[in-house]
Amino acid sequence: MDYLDSDIKFLAGVGDKRAALLRQEMGVHTFGDLLYYFPFRYVDRSRVAKIAEIAEDQVTEVQIRARVTGMQAVGEGPRKRLVVFVDDGSGRAELVWFRGVNWMQKQLEPGREYIIFGKPAFFMHNVSMVHPEVDSVSAEASKMQTGVRGVYPMTEKLGSSNITSKTIYNLMRTLWQQVAPHIRETLPARIVLQNNLMPLKEALYNIHFPASEQALLQARWRLKFEELFLVQLSILMMRNNRIEKGNGFVFERVGEYFNRFYTEKLPFEMTRAQKRVVREIRKDTLTGRQMNRLLQGDVGSGKTIVALMGALLAKDNGFQSCIMAPTEILAGQHYESIAKMLNGMGVTVALLTGSTRKPLRRIIDRQLRGGELDILIGTHALIEDTVQFNNLGFVVIDEQHRFGVEQRSRLWAKNMVPPHVLVMTATPIPRTLAMTLYGDLDVSVIDELPPGRKPIKTIHAYDAHRLRVFGFIREEIKKGRQVYIVYPLIRESEKLDYKDLEDGYAGITAAFPYPEYHTVVVHGQMSSENKEYGMNLFKTGQAHIMAATSVIEVGVNVPNASIMIVESAERFGLSQLHQLRGRVGRGSEQSYCILMTKDRLSKESRKRIEAMVATNDGFELAELDMQLRGPGDMEGTRQSGLGFDLKIANLAKDVQLMEQSRAVARDLLGEDPELSHPENAMLRNAIARVKKVNEVDFSRVL
Ligand code: ADP
Ligand code: MG
Repeated sequence: MDYLDSDIKFLAGVGDKRAALLRQEMGVHTFGDLLYYFPFRYVDRSRVAKIAEIAEDQVTEVQIRARVTGMQAVGEGPRKRLVVFVDDGSGRAELVWFRGVNWMQKQLEPGREYIIFGKPAFFMHNVSMVHPEVDSVSAEASKMQTGVRGVYPMTEKLGSSNITSKTIYNLMRTLWQQVAPHIRETLPARIVLQNNLMPLKEALYNIHFPASEQALLQARWRLKFEELFLVQLSILMMRNNRIEKGNGFVFERVGEYFNRFYTEKLPFEMTRAQKRVVREIRKDTLTGRQMNRLLQGDVGSGKTIVALMGALLAKDNGFQSCIMAPTEILAGQHYESIAKMLNGMGVTVALLTGSTRKPLRRIIDRQLRGGELDILIGTHALIEDTVQFNNLGFVVIDEQHRFGVEQRSRLWAKNMVPPHVLVMTATPIPRTLAMTLYGDLDVSVIDELPPGRKPIKTIHAYDAHRLRVFGFIREEIKKGRQVYIVYPLIRESEKLDYKDLEDGYAGITAAFPYPEYHTVVVHGQMSSENKEYGMNLFKTGQAHIMAATSVIEVGVNVPNASIMIVESAERFGLSQLHQLRGRVGRGSEQSYCILMTKDRLSKESRKRIEAMVATNDGFELAELDMQLRGPGDMEGTRQSGLGFDLKIANLAKDVQLMEQSRAVARDLLGEDPELSHPENAMLRNAIARVKKVNEVDFSRVL
């Protein structure tokens, strides 16, 4: 066993109780885990501030050197706290403890001088610090080995168990003494040399105990490189594996169905981008390998038709297809438009959702198994085990970010040979993220909108200007247009959120009274019949206004609707706003997206709104979104899961490193595809470290 795999409870100063906490709160099980628990920032402990000079807007910790002038325990029972008064000659400060009051009281001696480190707060212009770190001057002086000290990520639970960043720092020092001789380089010597990397042991030392600013920079660079490199290695290896398997159906014929549809049924000329993607699918399905293609195309770029052409290709080769959409509304809409386009073609299509009634469902099941059904469109209902195809050859997953990883992979198992897969998304994924998430996927992009569309005008309006916005709506309705008004919904399950919608609806019907105006409401908690009824009134133009929660975000297609009003727009994420905006601008009329917000916005909300007003480009917005929110929080990744546990690298910021590490990984695998060369053997173990515990097989998932 590797020494680094030793149970953390055996480290001096840990023991059973603390070990349990470290496991739970920090995910630290072993010596090695602790070694890879990095500071998230650093403070300069060589500087000592004067109390009088601490500014009221000081937000990070400061260090002072002051004498205790008095102390006082106040309150009783759980509300008891200790207040300690200190003075450094320039001014006075108060230190406060809510926990460990008795213990602290015994530690401190009035009249003595201490080094005090903490985050200052101001109360009536007086400096106070809650739970600062305190060391007697002599002890601290002997310990202070360098000026820069790491600050470790903490949780509330750790804090209430008296484990502070300083505790971790001290444990780390003990740990280092013991593990240092056992740290072995993970990267092949040649890679370390060629990329000018700091050796692993030195990097780990400096990330915890930086010898200098420069050394810290190099340490971070090295550790980030390693992390990203290992991720890339594992993705590329999986990809190579998949490509080698030779396990895909061959669609060799472009036959009657595909050709007849193209020449007789297609209601418009495909854009160049659409044609290119159809060609890419054709090429993929000829190789004998399973296709795994991600199709990115902005809302309204015409992805559906591409999916349909793929399904017809499958039909020409004797295979069934299925198209999975995230909501019943969207699935229903796909079904309607596809059935209409295929009318008279002799291709059978059915819709299967959670609300499909039993008798109909039985018919569908039978036809599916008998191979009489060519294209099955539906929601999650499609992945249930009871849904059995005769010969499934082509799978389309629309708006994939709505589906969890597991849900998607279950579709694969529906045939002996995995079907070809086309994953479609209107949420553009920034390049770096695509490289990690979908590194083993082929990516197609529809970067062109169908002709004749006018760019949507986006306007930011404060709540105070509501009357003017309403006036504008009246004019547009008079011209025959229709309007969406969308209210934020944070969690579908929470009743509270519907209050916004209800209040809004009341306001709307007051401002737009029936029968002159007709407003419908649609939200996620309605029965699907009521939803459909409301949607239908709007689709057929009988209703002028649709007030909705973000259920309409995906896929609704009403070309005559030309105004999208987003209420409390500051509460939506960028990609969500962009999706919503994509609901309009589908007809030939000028369309508008009006973002209503409260008057005072946070800096970040303001940035989002400004970005929406400035650009219609989904990719640009996606990059910005990632920078604002960080990749872990991006819509679309939260649910699919990154699959990799990144400790130090940042997908939004480390673009250059990501590309560099990918190139190095590709070269290495070019020479040694299985990493069987002795020099590369240690990489195999290292890869396992970056992969998540509940491992995701990307070759199967996407
Ligand atoms: P999305 O990519 O958002 O799924 P859709 O496939 O729903 O887009 O297409 C949006 C609208 O554009 C549909 O009404 C569709 O019929 C239409 N459309 C698609 N491709 C073209 C084209 N090449 N020319 C004209 N209209 C098109
Ligand atoms: Mg679509």
